[in-house]
Amino acid sequence: MPSASALIDAHGRTIRYLRISVTDRCDLRCRYCMSETMQFLPRDRLMSVDEMAALAECFIARGVNKIRLSGGEPLMRGDTVALAERLGTHLGRGLDELTMTTNATRLARHAGALAAAGIRRINVSLDSRDPDTFRHITRTGDLDRVLEGIAAARSAGIAIKINMVALKGLNEHEIAPMLAWCAEQGFDLSLIETMPLGAIDEDRTDRFLPLTQVFADLSERFTLERDTFKTGGPARYWKLADSSIRLGLISPLTANFCDGCNRVRMTTEGLLYLCLGQDAHVDLRSALREGGPAAVDAAIDAGMMRKPAAHAFNIAPGAAPAVSRHMSVTGG
Ligand code: SAM
Ligand code: SF4
Repeated sequence: MPSASALIDAHGRTIRYLRISVTDRCDLRCRYCMSETMQFLPRDRLMSVDEMAALAECFIARGVNKIRLSGGEPLMRGDTVALAERLGTHLGRGLDELTMTTNATRLARHAGALAAAGIRRINVSLDSRDPDTFRHITRTGDLDRVLEGIAAARSAGIAIKINMVALKGLNEHEIAPMLAWCAEQGFDLSLIETMPLGAIDEDRTDRFLPLTQVFADLSERFTLERDTFKTGGPARYWKLADSSIRLGLISPLTANFCDGCNRVRMTTEGLLYLCLGQDAHVDLRSALREGGPAAVDAAIDAGMMRKPAAHAFNIAPGAAPAVSRHMSVTGG
């Protein structure tokens, strides 16, 4: 049970979900996420496992019961498994779920240790099952390594959800086959609209595919029943008939679900961003270094008062990104 008061923001929303971007670095360069020549943080700006865990523990004490490790690519850091192991000790003792979002290029090596740490579900980004299209979208990716990572996670007993960003003219013809493949494999599938976060080398508008359109197409090919499952995020869910899997649509552009938002995001530098699509933040690492857990608590409370009511995404042609930081900084 939390020892201090629960986290309730200025709009009356209770915050129970923390995402941690453990590094802004990545071995891939997905076109909608990053530019080809990214400037990453100097390594000495990244928090240590001890600092990340100490901050996460302040959140658990305040009622956060779900933590997702993300990035950049979380498995780029050799000590991410150690962080998972430390946070895993809180499972069943305040923390209900510890999970990760990964590109799976290094998952084969770490799946067993992550399962042993208590990770039961993982999100894997897979925008194409065609090796050439996969390489084109990620600029450098090797599809086989990702599939090996997925297989290793499955063997380790970790449930898998595939994240697929819907990209006009790039992978739109693969969406229905991806849903069929996920049903065969027993994987949930979440489709994501491209969000205007950080400068990339192209105009995202050219690739923006509204999920309303994708859903209309899928509904003609599959029997989809609305599912009331809610995570406090921007996703809406459907059940696929004659299968155990769930289809999620993450569509912050065509549908806004900020009213029920239950999450905050911490960067690897210890900045707590209160909204993916806004700049409001507080500095938790400085609070930890200068005043310890009591100062962190006060900074988190200040953050709660600054959490915006809603994001400010706009995907109009030529419009500047809603915020200058990339998704990899705050963790998807
Ligand atoms: N590297 C890991 C991965 O790709 O799974 C974790 C971090 S990545 C930033 C998390 C998720 O954000 C991925 O599913 C990715 O496809 C998605 N993503 C990245 N940039 C995005 C953008 N601009 N709009 C929508 N989704 C994005
Ligand atoms: Fe890396 Fe994930 Fe961004 Fe792709 S989406 S470049 S894998 S952080």
